[in-house]
Amino acid sequence: TITIDGVSKVYGEDTVALDDVSFTVEDGEFMVLLGPSGAGKSTLLRLLNGLESPTSGEIYVGDEAVAGTRSDVAMVFQMHNLVESMSAYRNALTGALNRTGVARSVTTQYGDDVERMALNALDTVGLLDEAGQRADSMSGGQQQRVGIARALTQDPQLLLADEPVASLDPKAAEDVMGYLRAAADERELTTITSLHQVNIARAFGERFIGLRDGEVVFDGGKDDLTMDVVSDIYYDEDEVVK
Ligand code: ATP
Ligand code: MG
Repeated sequence: TITIDGVSKVYGEDTVALDDVSFTVEDGEFMVLLGPSGAGKSTLLRLLNGLESPTSGEIYVGDEAVAGTRSDVAMVFQMHNLVESMSAYRNALTGALNRTGVARSVTTQYGDDVERMALNALDTVGLLDEAGQRADSMSGGQQQRVGIARALTQDPQLLLADEPVASLDPKAAEDVMGYLRAAADERELTTITSLHQVNIARAFGERFIGLRDGEVVFDGGKDDLTMDVVSDIYYDEDEVVK
């Protein structure tokens, strides 16, 4: 269980990015964060990742308070940050570098299990046959799937994704979300992903949190996420990307 308990984050003197946010995410849940630009989605993900700490409140992964980055929390980024000159397989392997207990030195230090995990992860995202291809020879969608494989190779307890399909065309976006959801289901992985496109969120999400001005304004399942609720989250309806 992930517990977010009364979390606020203030930048500088008075930029309130998150304002007393509380919710829990059950094990294996696929949760989507919705909200307009500036709502606090990325801030919340960075706090969950331990990249930043809350101004007040607590975040727990299981029974442990998050204090700094954790090897059991993996992140998929909007821009995948792959090493372009390396193969899909090598990129996937680097996920293991984020785990403690694995040599951080260089690429020759991986053990057999890590290699198996990387291949397994590439299989999960449908890229086993492309394992040897250079990252920069792959399509945007394939590269993002390698980014997911890298996160899976970290063998996380919690998978975070910040707008993982924002830079992709609609077809590739659906494709990548399909793999992300399938990977999470297959591994019973607790997943929190922010998404801009409401239609994609509805198609792949299980539970939804709506953030607006740093506050939770919606928490529910697909059936509760009506058009009225959506326009409430995105107070300015022009901001809804359909
Ligand atoms: P977007 O959809 O545009 O990615 P978001 O929901 O991810 O938006 P955040 O990036 O979390 O929103 O930003 C929330 C608020 O905090 C905004 O007002 C933003 O300007 C502010 N903010 C975020 N990061 C910082 C920072 N490092 N320093 C100062 N202010 C910040
Ligand atoms: Mg953001």
